[in-house]
Amino acid sequence: MKTIEIKIEGITQGVGFRPFIYNLANKLNLKGFILNDSNGVLIEIEGDEIEQFINQIELQKPSLAVIDSIEIKEIQNRNFKNFEIRESRDLGKLKTIIPIDSAICPKCKIELFDKSNKRYNYPFITCTECGVRFTIIKSMPYDRANTSMAKFEMCQFCKGEYINPNSRRFHTEPVSCPDCSPKLSLLDENLLELEIGNLAIERVIKELKDGKIVAIKGYGGFHLVCDGLNFDSISRLREIKKRKKKPFALMFRDLESIKQVAKVNRLEEKLLTSNIAPIVLLDSFDSDLPSNIAPELNKLGVFLPYSAIHLLIFKEFKNPLVVTSANITKEPLIIDSNEFKRIKLADFILDCNRDIINRCDDSVVMALDEEYKITIRRARGLAPKNIKLPFKLDKNILSTGANQKSVFAIAFEDNAILSPHIGDLESIKSIESFEEMIERISKMYSFKPDLIICDKHINYESSKWAERQNIPLKRIQHHYSHIRAVLYEKKINFDVLAVAFDGSGFGDDGKIWGGEFFIANQKSYQRIKHLREFKLLGGEVAIKNPKRIALSILFDIFDSKALDLNLSTIKAFNQTELKNLYQIHKKAINSPLTSSIGRLFDAIASLIDITQEINYEGESGAIMESFYDENLNEAYEFEIRDEIIDFENLILAILGDLDKRIVVTKFINAIINLILTIQKEIKLPIVFCGGVFQNRALSSNLIKRLKIENIAFYIPEEIPINDGGIAFGQIER
Ligand code: ZN
Ligand code: FE
Repeated sequence: MKTIEIKIEGITQGVGFRPFIYNLANKLNLKGFILNDSNGVLIEIEGDEIEQFINQIELQKPSLAVIDSIEIKEIQNRNFKNFEIRESRDLGKLKTIIPIDSAICPKCKIELFDKSNKRYNYPFITCTECGVRFTIIKSMPYDRANTSMAKFEMCQFCKGEYINPNSRRFHTEPVSCPDCSPKLSLLDENLLELEIGNLAIERVIKELKDGKIVAIKGYGGFHLVCDGLNFDSISRLREIKKRKKKPFALMFRDLESIKQVAKVNRLEEKLLTSNIAPIVLLDSFDSDLPSNIAPELNKLGVFLPYSAIHLLIFKEFKNPLVVTSANITKEPLIIDSNEFKRIKLADFILDCNRDIINRCDDSVVMALDEEYKITIRRARGLAPKNIKLPFKLDKNILSTGANQKSVFAIAFEDNAILSPHIGDLESIKSIESFEEMIERISKMYSFKPDLIICDKHINYESSKWAERQNIPLKRIQHHYSHIRAVLYEKKINFDVLAVAFDGSGFGDDGKIWGGEFFIANQKSYQRIKHLREFKLLGGEVAIKNPKRIALSILFDIFDSKALDLNLSTIKAFNQTELKNLYQIHKKAINSPLTSSIGRLFDAIASLIDITQEINYEGESGAIMESFYDENLNEAYEFEIRDEIIDFENLILAILGDLDKRIVVTKFINAIINLILTIQKEIKLPIVFCGGVFQNRALSSNLIKRLKIENIAFYIPEEIPINDGGIAFGQIER
């Protein structure tokens, strides 16, 4: 008889790992114990069938468990009497991954709708394989006492399941039932309680049918919800949120209903129905959906119900629901109903007295074809998951990311923990939320940085915060961070041709980059080509006003003669504005130079009158996409002169066409040709990154071409392709 100690690292807590081991040990008649510690799980085991036991761990582990490493060593005999699950113990630095929230599982769904089940219609049903995790955790290790479920005492029934290794709820930390439930309550806009429990849900359904807006507490924050077929409710929601045109996501009762309004390929179906249940951006058909859900776009963000509360609503409510984060522009997601006193956002509030500890928005993903997806927002179900680095660090690094789509990372050894999406750091509240999350995640991992890495942009709030910390600081160029995020994720340790296309990032020459080609590897980068530079008239203002960018480019080409052109860009200004802007352009007053291709999209959107002023980031590109015509095989041409990629002739050709469909298609095709042309010269595998590649017409057709021409390419799939991926790429040895 042998006795061995087994240490397992990975996602092993909150996923039913201990009961699995317990049952396996009993089946093989082995004695000993298992416990959770901060490194993962520790097992000591004694008996004859030990080899068999070890083999079965890998083969039969629970579906949500991930094993990063197993360490086995023989120890002296202990003479165990039985196999038991022992209390967790806390051990210094945490390597265990914080468990992640998961959509309700199929087994819980069945119980939820089974009249004979104790948890029939029970809004907080959960098991070891599903439900809230990260969003209710205050500290690690993951035990009920360290979560916001601590204040609810388990009833005898739940306790029975919790301690029964044969139950699906063995050590399900948030377990509860109607007898020991957190309280669900429907409040009016003054926070007066109207209904409680399932009556509250019934009332929600009634009010939604009535066209009302209801704030519903989800896993990581409140949502604002209204009838997705009610044009007036949606308009009101837009007014309340001060959100003129930015598309809303829709939650549908089932996959079949989604297929009525949008094209769903196999990958998209897999993403929608995964236990992450993210928002998936789909190509929409013409349908009866109100036009104010996603104005002027042929894309629709959709997702499926991921909590029991959603399912209970959809039991009675057949229409899709607009489900959007409850916050006001630039502020973080609301997690506490008291906030609704400060900002009136909803007619009713479906609240519950289980606190949300960690704010976490919905994740957003998009498939580029049947094979490749990109992550647009890493949040619920994805963060703060551990991502392995392709090297081992000898110090602790905190990287603070960019300013928009803020995400930070903490990194130690070969682990990188990416925070959930925090949002744009453009309000005091969102900066506070950024700081709070750094504090909390650092605490969970007992993490103290030896080095902080931030962007070269000194005006980024994330950079300013980094500077204030009095810890050694390093700055990494924005686009190189984008590129390295891909190199790390895909474990690429050779030279690549990297295409970094985005809105803006501070360049090494002090100019604003964003249309760049590099030769790069994990250690160094060389900028080899970039878009011809143009002036952002008035700086920041220009970013919100595509017409200013178009005008600036027209001045570059035609000088004052631009003013005589019969173009919607020119008509979008009055005479005084035009005169002033001409002077501003001529004297280059507050007009930083940029090589951003995101801004070139803006300029073209203005020239063909798609949009003159934008309401949300990426708007012009998103609307342009809906004019892309797969059947038109023509393209404009960029001219490459040494390191400059010139678009002057391209603009002249556009002025000759001015048709939205033709211009958009020939422009996007021109970008694809440009990338292929440069690749033929450089002959390296391609990496592409930056927010511009969220344009599916561009990305999916680029991939198609690269596949046909057999050119190796890499795109980030798990790490956000936009600025949400910067923090990961900032990390370095
Ligand atoms: Zn479950
Ligand atoms: Fe960027």
